[in-house]
Amino acid sequence: MTKRILVLPGDGIGPEIVDEAVKVLDVLVGEFELDIEMDEGLIGGAAYDAAGHPFPDSTREMALEADAILLGAVGGPQYDNLDRPLRPERGLLAIRSALGLFANLRPAILYPQLASASSLKPEVVAGLDILIVRELTGSIYFGQPRGIQVNDKGEREGFNTMRYAESEIERIGRVAFDAAMQRNKKVCSVDKANVLETSELWREVMERVAKDYPDVELSHMYVDNAAMQLVRAPKQFDVIVTENMFGDILSDQASMLTGSIGMLPSASLNSSKQGLYEPSHGSAPDIAGLGIANPLATILSAAMMLRYSLERADLADKIESAVSVVLDQGLRTRDIMEPGMTEVSTSQMGDALVAALRATIQ
Ligand code: NAD
Repeated sequence: MTKRILVLPGDGIGPEIVDEAVKVLDVLVGEFELDIEMDEGLIGGAAYDAAGHPFPDSTREMALEADAILLGAVGGPQYDNLDRPLRPERGLLAIRSALGLFANLRPAILYPQLASASSLKPEVVAGLDILIVRELTGSIYFGQPRGIQVNDKGEREGFNTMRYAESEIERIGRVAFDAAMQRNKKVCSVDKANVLETSELWREVMERVAKDYPDVELSHMYVDNAAMQLVRAPKQFDVIVTENMFGDILSDQASMLTGSIGMLPSASLNSSKQGLYEPSHGSAPDIAGLGIANPLATILSAAMMLRYSLERADLADKIESAVSVVLDQGLRTRDIMEPGMTEVSTSQMGDALVAALRATIQ
């Protein structure tokens, strides 16, 4: 059945990098029997300019009907003085909540060709391929009660509540185990079960979920140790699953292991596998319109879309291999440029990727 994709280019470099990802998807439609229909919509500052709101009703309707959404990035200095509800970033929060996206998937992949971009020793990170699955809608960021109050000693105190229902833990666990089934079949669940009851329950539910995935090896790690292990020996991990706040911190830490923000995709999923796919970086207004942005994070986000929402892992593999091919050819956008390599523009990088994909047709 034809799947519906909503394309939301957004602001800054968004339209430039999304163009390249659409170019790649068009080739997959034309030459690899990918059955999708793409519509384009407005979000962020571009939507505010055209429709007076960063997440217009028309975009909401299209998003709810889509099987997957491919987004560039939102934001820019020209919108910084708008009222908060009208700022581009609000569009992003609104689409995440409209779709109930509770699972955030952030791979930290370091192509061996780019190992010197990391601040860690090449032998520690070359070939790194971790997936962090972060719960996105629960825990201390949302738990009630919360606030700042005057205590019985007359002093102000702030308080937040970390809480998880079993069903919330189970559904994020299933996302992680499903993802591991498509990878190296290892899940490391990160918690603080030596101190927190929330984590005690988390661990118990993960153990229960694991019973349904006998091929996947489950291990547990305390979050403080996980932070250490990520810089000591990050290649020991395959899939890491963790709660909202731990995941917020660990996913940024893991992404920086790679040193190249223009290469990192992300996905946010709901329970019907509907997903929002976007690069991990922002709208890079400093380089917008110059044709030098790296489109690979967005193209790799499209690959995640194929794998997680469109059941075409075969095509996701092809895109990921094609990225390796263009890097082997020595092609680099400016952000990952090194001596001896060939600098290419945003669209030249997209063209090279398309050529590498076409070359895989026998
Ligand atoms: P940023 O990620 O946009 O840029 C950080 C640095 O990385 C800049 O020097 C930029 O030129 C570079 N960079 C980012 N993506 C690149 C790419 N694909 N190719 C080459 N270089 C790239 O972060 P920022 O500067 O802190 O934020 C800029 C705007 O983006 C702000 O308005 C912010 O609110 C917004 N933002 C949006 C998202 C999102 O849409 N998901 C995420 C983060 C920031």
